[in-house]
Amino acid sequence: MKKSFGIIAMTMMMFASCGGGEKAATEFEYANEKFADLQMLRYEVKGWDGLSLEQKKLVYYLTEAALSGRDILFDQNGKYNLRIRNILESIYTNDAIDHNTSEMKALEIYLKRVWFSNGIHHHYGELKFLPDFSEQWFRQTVMANPNHFPASYEGQTVEQFLDEICPVIFDPNVLPKKVNQADGEDLILTSAGNYYGDGVTQAEAEAFYEAQKDTLNPEPVMYGMNSRLVKEDGRLVEKVWKVDGLYGQAIERIVFWLRKAAEVAENDTQRAVINKLIQFYTDGDLKTFDDYCIAWVKDLDSRIDFVNGFTESYGDPLGMKASWESIVNFKDLEATRRTETISANAQWFEDHSPVDPRFKKEECKGISAKVITAAILAGDLYPSTAIGINLPNSDWVRAAHGSKSVTIGNLTEAYAKAAHGNGFNEEFVYSDKERALIDKYDAITDDLHTDLHECLGHGSGKLLPGTSSEALKAYGSTIEEARADLFGLYYVGDKKLLDLGLLPSKDAYKAQYYTYMMNGLMTQLVRIEPGNDIEEAHMRNRSLVAHWCFEKGQKDRVVEMVKQDGKTYVRINDYRKLRNLFGELLAEIQRIKSEGDFEAARDLVETYAVKVDPTLHAEVLARYKALNLAPYKGFINPVYTPVTDKDGNITNVTIDYTETFAAQNLRYSRDYATLPVVN
Ligand code: ZN
Repeated sequence: MKKSFGIIAMTMMMFASCGGGEKAATEFEYANEKFADLQMLRYEVKGWDGLSLEQKKLVYYLTEAALSGRDILFDQNGKYNLRIRNILESIYTNDAIDHNTSEMKALEIYLKRVWFSNGIHHHYGELKFLPDFSEQWFRQTVMANPNHFPASYEGQTVEQFLDEICPVIFDPNVLPKKVNQADGEDLILTSAGNYYGDGVTQAEAEAFYEAQKDTLNPEPVMYGMNSRLVKEDGRLVEKVWKVDGLYGQAIERIVFWLRKAAEVAENDTQRAVINKLIQFYTDGDLKTFDDYCIAWVKDLDSRIDFVNGFTESYGDPLGMKASWESIVNFKDLEATRRTETISANAQWFEDHSPVDPRFKKEECKGISAKVITAAILAGDLYPSTAIGINLPNSDWVRAAHGSKSVTIGNLTEAYAKAAHGNGFNEEFVYSDKERALIDKYDAITDDLHTDLHECLGHGSGKLLPGTSSEALKAYGSTIEEARADLFGLYYVGDKKLLDLGLLPSKDAYKAQYYTYMMNGLMTQLVRIEPGNDIEEAHMRNRSLVAHWCFEKGQKDRVVEMVKQDGKTYVRINDYRKLRNLFGELLAEIQRIKSEGDFEAARDLVETYAVKVDPTLHAEVLARYKALNLAPYKGFINPVYTPVTDKDGNITNVTIDYTETFAAQNLRYSRDYATLPVVN
């Protein structure tokens, strides 16, 4: 399961500190180029130099294993993707063609979008995007340069190749959607993904897997997860993805690097994890995969960790077949200490919260989640990525052996830093005074608020005997998110965090209070279409908290909405009173949850969380549009280069952040072209 970049990243962006000052020359450049609706970012691998040589080697080998699977995802996303990527790249890299024509500029953008989406469908919207160059120009360009037509298309003439590929690129009605979820249609026949062979219907696939399922087995494998289901002579057959199966050439390369990684593993537990994965890639047996997951969940002491394999099933309309992805990372010791400190003091926070003692937990345990630093993103995590991951996905493995939950600290930081100076806070924050606070303290208080929300907030409090956990029905998740957010807000303003050494200043919490209120009262509306209500639970929760506190504080003018030059701003006049309001609402929300008071939950949510002021909404949308910010982000990976002595032994691994998105993808296509273009 992925904690997607969507809402969280957007929040991070909106919470992110503002700019104003010039960047120092040595400062890391987070924001990179923009094209279409996309913005490229870079992330910094902080702490790299603190790793030992053996650890650097391990990360390096695992990054090579990660990049070696790149072609698998392109092919999973659509059977023409590798061919299309290939022909576009050969045109793009041909210096004989004038690159300054509008057609070539359009080809460059289209190719970058194909790289970004790992195929021809939008990575988020699922719809096929079309190029801004004409089919006629494309055909002429290919015909005029027969060397664009790679040898691997053997058996086809250039004309035949173009006749096959052009409708896929240019006709909006051919393969229009990557994953179709529309109820009532044949989801397999109408989805462009390559998880099922030609002519396999949804009914056939469902019957095929239904017959495999053993409902009495308490430890069922993830049926169908690692194969393409095809028809051969009228019979359904699974083409398993493994060393001597489909995608074998890529998997062999992955295994090659995994073997090297196993040699420099930090400890025997980790070595056993890597060896289990090699075994799974070799035998393709899903029972081996479960064994691998169990070993991986138990590897808690290693500094370095990774995901490499067929993982998430969002790309299969039936939710079975897993797309390939990889991330290599190491534990951020300092940030993890922060979550551990909070967890260790869980009981103190519970005892001192403003809720009625009847609703408090007598004994509470914090959940320890680690914060990690990403070293490489690959497959379905590149370049658009998750910022939190919770694996494995197998229900019985999770229940019996647990799961690992991580927050990717250097990616959330990159989102926040990239927003620095993008004009957002200059546009929406009331004055320099608030901007200075945000600049100084927003990053740390934002992290702390997330930690308090995740590690303690959701785990705090208890239901009264006889109260059903389902009592609040459709309002339950909004109330639950509000409860966790308020717990975090209340304690971000508590002296305890200063005493624990988690906050640098008694004023720091004000940054979090300001951005929270601004977001809840105004700026989160940029994600809502004109005329719509707020639907999503996290957004409803923020609206609820902000509007309730705004209204209850009105007689004391705690928070105000002020107009300046025709623009609306949030102004906070009394931060201590605002904290008291957060505490009051936390107590009430906890009561509602503990007693299962459905009427009160409905009343709060319907009054404060759902409706949008259309005038303010229109104003916010117009101001946001003028900033011209790209709604989707992705990351350029760093480049790792081993340094060797005269005998070829690795003596160091250096890291470089200067490669462009285009250069990176051309290099990947050259050095990690592990699959033939037709699979
Ligand atoms: Zn939550």
